[in-house]
Amino acid sequence: MCRHVGYLGPLVGLDELLLHPAHSLLEQTWAPNDMRAGGTVNVDGFGVGWYARDGTVPKRYRAEGPMWADGNFAELAGCVRSGAVVGAIRSATGSTSAVRTACAPFGSGPWLFSHNGSVPGWPDTLADLADKLDPADLVTLDAPVDSALVWALLRHRLDGGQPPADAVRDTLAEVVAAAPRARMNLLLSDGETLIATTWSHSLAVCRTDEAVLLASEPFDPPVEVLGGTGASGNGGPDWHPVAEGSLVIADRVSTSCTPLFETSPESR
Ligand code: GLN
Repeated sequence: MCRHVGYLGPLVGLDELLLHPAHSLLEQTWAPNDMRAGGTVNVDGFGVGWYARDGTVPKRYRAEGPMWADGNFAELAGCVRSGAVVGAIRSATGSTSAVRTACAPFGSGPWLFSHNGSVPGWPDTLADLADKLDPADLVTLDAPVDSALVWALLRHRLDGGQPPADAVRDTLAEVVAAAPRARMNLLLSDGETLIATTWSHSLAVCRTDEAVLLASEPFDPPVEVLGGTGASGNGGPDWHPVAEGSLVIADRVSTSCTPLFETSPESR
């Protein structure tokens, strides 16, 4: 399955965060450690979204093909610094399209969204849910990919004023009810908060005094994130695995991790 990273903290270069660390998102394109569900590499595109400090909507760079093959991104990443980043690399799942716009992060207004997973039988399995959307939600789907439809369902809730964590949980619940074998590791940010779920895929969290990282697979945090206390690769802060069926809400100073539902995923 795809891999994603969410970051909140001091300004950091996109290259320092995503390209240079040991087991960076870049390395995870060809050598991920924990793919599950049949995927082997993440070479079907990638995307990065980042927030500026001026409060403008986040900027995105998305591309087809593997991250390592994109010299334009390497140059851009070397000159962009941000304190809030969502990055994703893609392993396309069945009945989806390998186009740039199928790559996370998806975005709208202040939001960036990524999905590790798949929705079996889509779009048919989600037809009833899609019926509840406004036509405008459907015609603005980024690409024919399950993740874009999941994003439309979540965005509909956000636009309707539902609190973001509730919207993430309820979207996951309605998709899993419609497609019980759906894999739904979601990641949402507005630049101030990261909201993530674990539903059939790996996720880990790493905290320092001023920063938080959420990632499908742990990597060495860059020196900026360590607060200047260490060198990348030389024993940074610990990563903690997030339990299956969790909802993680993190900002720059705190992290909460609670069960998504009162009953376990297995019994649902
Ligand atoms: N199903 C989504 C896609 O095809 C996410 C892929 C994944 O997690 N492997 O883009």
